[in-house]
Amino acid sequence: MVQWRGRRRSTNVEDTRGQRSSRPMRARGLKLGGGMGTIGIIAVIAITLMGGDPSQLLGILLGSSSQINSNQPLGDDDAAVFLSVILADTEVTWGKLFSASGSRYIEPKLRLFSGGVNSACGYNTAAVGPFYCPPDQRVYLDLDFFQQLKQLGAPGDFAQAYVIGHEIGHHVQNITGVLPKVHEAKQGISKKQANQLQVLVELQADCYAGIWAHYAESERDLLEAGDIEEGMQAAAAIGDDSLQRRAGGRVRPETFTHGSSAQRTQWFKTGFRTGSVEACDTFNQSNGLSDIGWAQMARTAQNAQAAETQASAISDAHSAFASKRSDVQITGKGIVVKVLADDLKGSRHQKFILDIGRGQTLLVAHNIDLAPRVSSLRSGDQIEYLGEYEYNQRGGVLHWTHHDPAGRHMDGWLKRRGQTFR
Ligand SMILES: [Zn+2]
Repeated sequence: MVQWRGRRRSTNVEDTRGQRSSRPMRARGLKLGGGMGTIGIIAVIAITLMGGDPSQLLGILLGSSSQINSNQPLGDDDAAVFLSVILADTEVTWGKLFSASGSRYIEPKLRLFSGGVNSACGYNTAAVGPFYCPPDQRVYLDLDFFQQLKQLGAPGDFAQAYVIGHEIGHHVQNITGVLPKVHEAKQGISKKQANQLQVLVELQADCYAGIWAHYAESERDLLEAGDIEEGMQAAAAIGDDSLQRRAGGRVRPETFTHGSSAQRTQWFKTGFRTGSVEACDTFNQSNGLSDIGWAQMARTAQNAQAAETQASAISDAHSAFASKRSDVQITGKGIVVKVLADDLKGSRHQKFILDIGRGQTLLVAHNIDLAPRVSSLRSGDQIEYLGEYEYNQRGGVLHWTHHDPAGRHMDGWLKRRGQTFR
């Protein structure tokens, strides 16, 4: 990067390097032995980057007792100065984008630490890599990570700037409501789906890093030739597939939480090319990169929940009869043993008796003002049903076997030979 020295430095950097943060007694984590070789370091980064973006912990962490140490004056070593210049530049970029859309950008803090750190997201060692903690709106960074980034094939200052841009991207996602929404959507979906959703979060943060780079170059001439390639190299180096390969394992896309190298570089490039937040909607643009979008994800979560409540609410006629319960939804099937005359008092009902096995019969009262009649019904017909059960000693009555036009009651139906009457 060109001439970053002498530029405005952010006042939001907190330098706690050299302060000892003690690990709470109950916390157990990775133990980093001394003399760990490159492979070991890579494995640790791989494991932690794959498994643990602390932003996933959002919400579990409420009420955590993080003490924010009084901060030291910022060191004036190159690394610290560089980071505060980059942070300041992200503040300009996002400050402008937010005010252009009529809102105000809340600037996050960047805390430098060494060894381990306590945050509202718990205690973390440097091994987790840089992370953003949503509840306290801070980016946490151990500068040793940049050494590891070099070993992963991403040397250079822009690679470091990209990492900051990505974490700031998570902050933007937090204050625009994306992270809370994702956290909610993750409830009640499978681990695999939650991973897929997390990939979309990470790719959007990559795209946001690209947006920052776009303005750093076009408005402030901060970039030089080769920087974008450097950023893409960094994005590629920490793609899940690269990390898994380097850690000596098989590449298993279903365990990705950050996206493949190709995906990460592509989304960084998208942000850089367009400088547009809309272009970074990873949740609704599949582009062949992901088979799930935001809308689909939300739907999946909703359906899963709806199916669950239904499953727990629906019983069968035998257990409802045995426990003498009324007003429960039941489903099952039976054979017509007697067709009765229509009941014409009040709303009209078609009535018949089903043998549902185990010596139990069920009287069906099917509302033919609201649903079609089961035409030419005769003894011996097999009927499947979903409706509401009312207990009586003779086996019980089934009603609400139709769609509720008012939408207040659960829909029911009758089926004969694949045809539905509701
Ligand atoms: Zn991330």
